[in-house]
Amino acid sequence: MKNKKKNILLNPGPANTTNSVKHSQIVPDICPREKEFGDVLNWVCKELTKFVANKNDYATILFGGSGTAAIESIISSVISKDDRILIMNNGEYGKRAIEIASIYGLDFLEFKSPVNQPINLDLLNDFINHSFPKITHLFIVHNETTTGILNDIKSVGLIAGENNIIFIVDAMSSFGAIPINMEKMNIGYLAASSNKNIQGMAGVSFVIASKKELKKIKKIKHKNLYLNLYAQYDYFKRNNQTRFTPPVQTIYALKQAIEELKKEGVKNRYKRYSNCWEILISGLSGLGLNFVVPIDHHSKIITAVYEPDNKNYNFNKMHDFLYKKGITIYPGKVGNMKTFRVANIGDISSKDVYFFLKEIKKYFKSIE
Ligand SMILES: *Cc1c(COP(=O)(O)O)cnc(C)c1O
Repeated sequence: MKNKKKNILLNPGPANTTNSVKHSQIVPDICPREKEFGDVLNWVCKELTKFVANKNDYATILFGGSGTAAIESIISSVISKDDRILIMNNGEYGKRAIEIASIYGLDFLEFKSPVNQPINLDLLNDFINHSFPKITHLFIVHNETTTGILNDIKSVGLIAGENNIIFIVDAMSSFGAIPINMEKMNIGYLAASSNKNIQGMAGVSFVIASKKELKKIKKIKHKNLYLNLYAQYDYFKRNNQTRFTPPVQTIYALKQAIEELKKEGVKNRYKRYSNCWEILISGLSGLGLNFVVPIDHHSKIITAVYEPDNKNYNFNKMHDFLYKKGITIYPGKVGNMKTFRVANIGDISSKDVYFFLKEIKKYFKSIE
């Protein structure tokens, strides 16, 4: 099969995939209820679990859908009417969790934190200690994709553990690059998807959960059909099939992407991304641009950049200028701050980042 032209995606997912991942989708037609496909699903689940936890005590539950499906599945399936969830909000993805909790009519509280500063752990501790009724669940976004701030899930997990709180992490844009250890970090539920740092195709969303916690949610009244986490977990365990039609070809791509991630290793993938990020930051700084998140708290995966103070600058024009060269960048999303975003994930190398810097320099020259 011929390789496709390479576009450089600097949006925060779907990320660039390798040719081998693209090609792995072309397989003989298969009914997903066949054992052969069930074995593929099983392998995918076990390997996804192994990146962040031990496969005896934790399980991966797959859904066909974008990343939000996994988040909605957790929030709607694990919070009973007697529970209260605290949602940490320092960006758009924290806000999205609040939207989900409010749609389902759950008892939730919001812990708002500045978008460009680390979470104040003393304040969080106080907040938890003074809340009545007691907080039973805590939700946090690991790498807040709005800004690129990396939330300290280890410390927050410690606080959750000390207070007997079930800890839920949206690791959508960190999984596969930033090392996570669910046991050490007290994480009960984690959500991620196939198309970011795993470098697979879009369409698979998954939850990794502690089996001990999963047992406890069995009796909670279902608030939806498709996204119910326990039903999805239990059916697959019993039947080696998913309840509903899975995205068959996307699963084959995910299998290949997992094999490639295992080969590169999570630590080395993060090294490659971080190296790209250093080059990116240094090049953009050279153009006089500034960043929303201080360097020390940065995930090194996606960067929110303040737009330049130049009346000739226009994001759409810059986007189109770069797009013509095969480069995609992303608009900003930080409240009313004027920003744009550049991600450095996927099958990209320093060479791609240098090419981007060369082209964006040309755009800046053109608006001088
Ligand atoms: C990408 C992302 C999601 C999921 O977004 P979808 O568009 O549903 O795939 C959720 N949380 C974070 C932090 C993300 O980066």
